[in-house]
Amino acid sequence: MLSQPSQKYKPYTPINLPNRQWPSKTFTKSPIWLSTDLRDGNQALVNPMTIEQKTTFFRELVKCGVKQIEVAYPSASDTDFAFVRGLIEKHEIPDDVWIQVLTPAREDLIRRTIDSVAGSKHAIIHMYNATSPTFRNVVFRNSKEQTLDLAIKHTKIIRELTEECTQKYRTKFIYEYSPETFTQTEPDFAIEVCEAVKKAWGKAGLGDERIIFNLPSTVEIAPPNHYADQIENFCNKISEREKIIVSLHPHNDRGTGIASAELGTLAGGDRIEGCFFGNGERTGNVDLVTLALNLYTQGIPPMLDLSDLQNTIDVVTACNDLPIPARYPYAGELVYTAFSGSHQDAIKKGFEAQRLRHEEGKAKGEPLIWDIPYLPIDPADLGQTYEALIRVNSQSGKGGISYLLKQNLHLDLPRKMQVAFYQVVQEVSDREAREMTVDDITSAFKRTYHFGTGYKGRLSLRNFKISSLDSEKPKPKAESDQESGEEDDTQRRFDGTVSVDGVHRVIRGKGNGPLSALLDALRTHLSLDFAIREYSEHTINDADEGENAQAASYVELISATERKTTSTRQSWWGVGVDADIARSGLRAVLSAVNSAINDGRELPRLKLSVGFHSKSSGQEDVASVIVNQLGLELPRRFQAAFFEVVQRKALEEADEISIDGVTQLFKDTYKYQNDSPSTKVSMESFKLDHLDGSRRSLSGSFTFFGGASRTISGTGNGPLSSLLAALHTQIAGTLSIRDYWEHSIGEGSEVRAASYVDLVYEVTGESTKNLKSSAWGVATDTDITASGVKAVLNAVNDLNVVLKN
Ligand SMILES: [Zn+2]
Repeated sequence: MLSQPSQKYKPYTPINLPNRQWPSKTFTKSPIWLSTDLRDGNQALVNPMTIEQKTTFFRELVKCGVKQIEVAYPSASDTDFAFVRGLIEKHEIPDDVWIQVLTPAREDLIRRTIDSVAGSKHAIIHMYNATSPTFRNVVFRNSKEQTLDLAIKHTKIIRELTEECTQKYRTKFIYEYSPETFTQTEPDFAIEVCEAVKKAWGKAGLGDERIIFNLPSTVEIAPPNHYADQIENFCNKISEREKIIVSLHPHNDRGTGIASAELGTLAGGDRIEGCFFGNGERTGNVDLVTLALNLYTQGIPPMLDLSDLQNTIDVVTACNDLPIPARYPYAGELVYTAFSGSHQDAIKKGFEAQRLRHEEGKAKGEPLIWDIPYLPIDPADLGQTYEALIRVNSQSGKGGISYLLKQNLHLDLPRKMQVAFYQVVQEVSDREAREMTVDDITSAFKRTYHFGTGYKGRLSLRNFKISSLDSEKPKPKAESDQESGEEDDTQRRFDGTVSVDGVHRVIRGKGNGPLSALLDALRTHLSLDFAIREYSEHTINDADEGENAQAASYVELISATERKTTSTRQSWWGVGVDADIARSGLRAVLSAVNSAINDGRELPRLKLSVGFHSKSSGQEDVASVIVNQLGLELPRRFQAAFFEVVQRKALEEADEISIDGVTQLFKDTYKYQNDSPSTKVSMESFKLDHLDGSRRSLSGSFTFFGGASRTISGTGNGPLSSLLAALHTQIAGTLSIRDYWEHSIGEGSEVRAASYVDLVYEVTGESTKNLKSSAWGVATDTDITASGVKAVLNAVNDLNVVLKN
C-alpha cells in the first residue's frame, strides 16, 4: 500500500447543494421494489441459473410479494429469451406483477427484447446507454451530442415498437431509462439526457404512465451522502417530477449499498433495484431483504412478506449457489444468537420484563411493543424459533444456561443453583474447548442431578407413603398434595421403598414434613445424615397446563454434622419434578443425596438380625428382604403383620433367622408361589363383565371345602366387591376389604401385577360365637384383576370361614 494514496486515488467531487433536505427527512413508506436477481444477479454468477432455477426463484419472489421483477436480458442469449417466453406462455406471471427486461440502445436488440415480452400483461422495457465521460470517451468514443442522439433515437424506436405490440397483444408497457453510470456522469448532463428521453417518449403521465429514470450507482465510488445529494439534485432539477419514478440502483463496492439506498430514498428515490441477499457483480447489488426488514423494524410495512425467511434463504441459495455469511443482517445463522454472558443475561431479563409489560399492555389494549436488549427484531416474525437465541461457549454466563434450561426442561433454577450448575458447564466447556449445544447442557444437567430416565443415581425412589403420625391410616392423596416443604407442624411419617445400588430397601422415618421424614429414614437406615439449607418450588409453566400441571422442587442439602459450624460448607443441589408436589420434593432430596454420595462411599449393607434378642426396629429390614428376594413391596401394615410372624418364629426356635429362612416363612405363611390345593375355597375359573358405569359382575366356578364345583356370581363396584358378593352366596357372615395395594413387578414383557389385600371376616351365630378375624392375602398375575382375585382367595383360605347352612 502507498504511504500517500492521494498520489494514486482521487476523492469524489461533492455536489454544491447548500439547501439539501434529505438529512432531516424520515421514512414513511416502503419504496417500490424491483428484484433484478434474475438479470443483474444472474449475470454475475459463476454458473448462471438454469431455466428451472430461474423459474423456482421467480416463484419465490412472487410469493414474497415482489411486484416488479427484472427477469432477463433477452437479446443477450437464447436461454434468457426462452425463459421470458416460458413465463408468459406457462402463465407464471400474476396479473399484478410487472416483468422487466433489459436492452441496450440498439434497434435489432430492442426488437428482440420487445418480441420476448409480447403477450404478457405488464412489461417494463429497460434501456440503458453509457453517459459517463469515461464510457463516452474511452469505451464508445461518443460525444455528448452523439450520446444524446443515441438515447433519443432508441427511445423513439421503443415507443413505436411497444405501441405496435400493445395493439397486437394488449401488453401494457412502462419505459425505464438508465443513464449509465449515473453516479459518474456530470449531474447536469444526466439531467439533460433524461429530459431528452422524456421528450422523445412523449407520453409520460401519472400513475402507471410514469416514466422510470433509474439512476445506477453501478460502481460505488463515494460515500452514501454523496449519492443522496446526487438524487436530491436530480429530483430538484428534472421537470415534471410527478410524471417520473426515480429509481435507485446501488451496488455495494464500499460496503455502503444499504446506506446509499436508504439515504437515496430520503433524497427522493421512489423505487429500488436490488437482489435478495445482495447478489450481483463484485460486491453485489443492494440487498432488498435487509432494506425491507430495516423498514419493518421502524414500524413501516415493508410490502414484502419475509415471514418464512429460512425458506426464502433456502430457495435463493439453492438457486444461485451463494452462501449467506453467518453474521449477515437478519439472514445469517448467528444473528439471533448470543454467546456472551452479559448479553444472555440481558436477553433473559428482557424477555421476563417484556412478558409482564405485555400482560399489562394487553389489559389496557395498548400495542405490545417489542423491546428486547440485543434483538432489534423478533425472530418469530421471520418464522425463526428462539432455539438458537442463546448459545453457550466458554464466554457465556449462567443467565444463558438458565435460559436454555428453562426453554428445554421448563426448569427455573434458584439463583444459587444456577451458580452451582454454571460451574459444571464451565468445566465441561473448558475441558472440551468448544461450544456447548443445548443437548450438551441438558444432558450435563441430567447427569449432574440424576434427573430423568436414564440418569438414575445410586438411590432411587420406588414407592412411598406419607402419613400423619397421629393416625395409622395413610393420608388420602389429595391431602398429601397440599403439603409442600416443611411448613406444617404435624409430625409426618415416610414409609417407602428405595433402591440402593440396585438393592431394594424399605425405609421409614418421621419428621415435621415429608422431606425431613425422608431425611430421618435415610439417617436411620443408611447412615446418610443431611439437612436442608434451601428449598424452593414452582409449578411448571408448560403449554398444556391445568390437569397435567407438574411441580418442580429444588433442594440444597448440607451435611447435618456440619450444620452447626459457620464456615463455608460444601452443599449439594437436587431437583425433582412430579405431578405430585410431595413426590417432587422427595425426588429433589434424593437427587441431592445422589450428588453427595457420588464420591463412591460405602453405604451400610442390608443386615438381617431378627432373633430372640433382636429389637423390633428390624421390621424394615424384613420388608427389605421380601422386596429383594420376591419383588414384593409390602404395604406397611402388612410389613408389621409379617414381622410379628417372624418374631414369633424366632422366639419358637430361639435362634436368628437367615434371609432364606425369612423368605420361606413368607411363602409358607401366605401360600405365596405355593401350588398345593386350597382346603377351603378354590377357584377353577372366573369371568368379569362390565355392567353400567363402574358396576361389574363376576361369575366363576368354585369349590368349597372339597365339595362339588359350583358356579356362583355377584355384582359390585369393582372386581373385588363382585367377588365378595359371589362368595357371600355361599359363605355365612361378612367379608370386607380393609386395605388394598397393588404395584407392578418386573419390566417389559415380564411385567406382572402384585396385589395385597387385608380381608376382615365377621360372622355372628350360635355355633360360631361371634367369630371375627382378619388376614392378609398376596398374589401376582400377568392380569391385574386376576392377581387381586387370587389375593382375596388366599386371604379367605387363611380365615376360618363357615358356609351358609
Ligand atoms: Zn447493476
